Amino acid sequence: MLIEKVFARWVLDSRGNPTIQTFVKTKTFQASAIVPSGASKGLHEALELRDNGKAFHGLGVSKAVKNVNTIIAKKLKNTPLEQKMVDEALIKLDGTPNKSFLGANAVLSVSLAVARLIASIKNQPLYEHISNLWKDLTGHVHKHSMPKPMANLINGGKHAPNDLVFQEFLIIPNYNSFEKNAQAVIEVYQELKNVIKEKLGVKCNLCIGDEGGFAPNIQAPEQALDLLQIALQDSGHKKKVSLGLDVAASEFYNNKKYFLNNNLMSCEQLINYYLDLIQDYDLASIEDPFEQDHFSAWSLFMQLLNKKNKKLQVVGDDLLVTNPKRINLAISYGLANALLLKPNQIGTLTEALQAAFIAKKAGWNVIVSHRSGDSEDAFIADLAVGIGASQIKLGAPCRGERTAKYNRLLNIEQEL
Ligand code: PEP
Ligand code: MG
Repeated sequence: MLIEKVFARWVLDSRGNPTIQTFVKTKTFQASAIVPSGASKGLHEALELRDNGKAFHGLGVSKAVKNVNTIIAKKLKNTPLEQKMVDEALIKLDGTPNKSFLGANAVLSVSLAVARLIASIKNQPLYEHISNLWKDLTGHVHKHSMPKPMANLINGGKHAPNDLVFQEFLIIPNYNSFEKNAQAVIEVYQELKNVIKEKLGVKCNLCIGDEGGFAPNIQAPEQALDLLQIALQDSGHKKKVSLGLDVAASEFYNNKKYFLNNNLMSCEQLINYYLDLIQDYDLASIEDPFEQDHFSAWSLFMQLLNKKNKKLQVVGDDLLVTNPKRINLAISYGLANALLLKPNQIGTLTEALQAAFIAKKAGWNVIVSHRSGDSEDAFIADLAVGIGASQIKLGAPCRGERTAKYNRLLNIEQEL
């Protein structure tokens, strides 16, 4: 089947900024995809093309839209509808290492819409189609399994107008179905509301951040973790739910020092601080504990954890930016043990699948992730199931762009 038309326009993301939606059409079918947008972006991510003009405070996407409607549309018209071929054509057409000619937002919107279109023509659910792509790439067939949710219930950093330096305080339920895990997330979230009301008073403490978690007016990470621990206890989920962090440490790093809790910390001091937190709160996962290029800190931390025989998921987001080259480097230097997979950090579905495969081959966990600016598009839910990801980061059970992912996963589990 041939692509007949590719057409893009701007639509809204969850922060009220424009983002790009692309439609890909054959004679009788059409599908579309909307790309998300990060706030705490990694330095090495593929480029999100913005207009930087007067409109939309510089965040317009008319250049990206134009690139789809002219350069990409012309190239893809009457070409076969095949994922790898389309993605390779997009990569070649862009011709830069970071998609800076066409914009990773422009390129990804086409790549994801193509996946949806092929799935609908084959009359397959999207996750099924993705698991076929996975099989073609890796030679592995896996039984569909549901990812565990990692739900960001307290928001800080760039995602909230409070003084919490760490970006995300996550809960990770471990029941044996997605439905039960989603129920646990909801029950802990509602309990957390009561705990915050009681401990901090209402005022702005119940306001929510970009990913739907509460953004209370507190400063120390321990305060946030204490609130979560009480909510776990009071909701009756303490035994089955662990805690995790996305520190997003690149955001408070300067010149080999980290500014935290009114202190300038060296990497050794920060590591000791983490080791205490891990012990005191029984943390199961920690993301971006160090700056994205501070490799010596990552490596020292991993060595210490190994020496202490500590089982901790150490997740690279800004460190890895879903980029096969950086993932290979991190594997060879032992910098982390889990990949955060964000398709818009790299720009095509094919490259995102390759990134996941490299991580999995090394025995790493793969966590598919939303962005802090997201939309009703739930592509990542199907992606997580299609590649057999161990976990998915999808925010709190609040705000439509977050609930869209929960709801899609509830429906997928029903179908399996
Ligand atoms: C993250 O850092 O993991 C995240 C989802 O935030 P953002 O989209 O702002 O990078
Ligand atoms: Mg992160």
